[in-house]
Amino acid sequence: MDLVLGVADYHFFTPYVYPASWPEDSILRQTISLLIVTNLGAYALYFFFATLSYYFVFDHSLMKHPQFLKNQVSREIKYTMWALPWMSLPTVSLFLLEIRGFSKLYDHLGEPPHGWVELAGSVVSFLFFTDMLIYFIHRGLHHRLLYKNIHKPHHIWKVPTPFASHAFHPVDGFVQSLPYHIYPFVFPLHKVVYLTLYVLVNIWTISIHDGDFRVPRALKPFINGSAHHTDHHLFFDYNYGQYFTLWDRIGGSFKNPSAFEGSGPLNYVKKMAEEKCNGSVESNCERDGGRQGASSKAD
Ligand SMILES: [Zn+2]
Ligand SMILES: [Zn+2]
Repeated sequence: MDLVLGVADYHFFTPYVYPASWPEDSILRQTISLLIVTNLGAYALYFFFATLSYYFVFDHSLMKHPQFLKNQVSREIKYTMWALPWMSLPTVSLFLLEIRGFSKLYDHLGEPPHGWVELAGSVVSFLFFTDMLIYFIHRGLHHRLLYKNIHKPHHIWKVPTPFASHAFHPVDGFVQSLPYHIYPFVFPLHKVVYLTLYVLVNIWTISIHDGDFRVPRALKPFINGSAHHTDHHLFFDYNYGQYFTLWDRIGGSFKNPSAFEGSGPLNYVKKMAEEKCNGSVESNCERDGGRQGASSKAD
């Protein structure tokens, strides 16, 4: 985060927000800067990638599913816009600890113990560490004592769109992001790698809500994709994972996605359209059904 703050400070904060006389390491100045950068960054990431995904990846025929809510997209966006600033408050306190030197983030590279091999290892361990913790946190959030007040808002959307990806109660969003923040306090991690991974995990979160249920055949047994996560929204007690199916398999909560078995939400919409056509004398039915069939991404 100090890299981001450095750039923001140079181009924007000084002298437009702060007079040059304010000391750069003032905790008040750092807190205000982090609040601005974190909120703008979160909105920018969310709107840019969720919008791209919504227009270019998300299969809009899913909106005809009977469990797709009225005005769902605008409700997902409104909820996210309300939640992100609240989520940023505890997040900024962790970023503050990080830029004040309490984490194990480093910025030099080349010699041991921070060579290229360690760097590659840290990417792999970051993914497995955060995947494991998110699994247990997410499962914990389904406990009846926590679910109703904290996690239920994210389960309002039974057939989510990319805009549901960050539509969490602020406590929910923050605790599920905690593993990303804990990692650099426990393990050494390069600053640029951390920033890149942080952006990528946000894009991944959007991608598991994008309604594109395809996964390359070789990766199907291992990757927790949109097909798995949509079934989590629909069937609740399955597929709590983030990137991998590993912990769902170990924890007995793995469910082969309905989309892989020809009974996913897209198949349902297609079947509905076909049934409507079969019972209709309207001549344009065939054309509508054909278009939906062609756009189906379930395999
Ligand atoms: Zn859940
Ligand atoms: Zn979700």
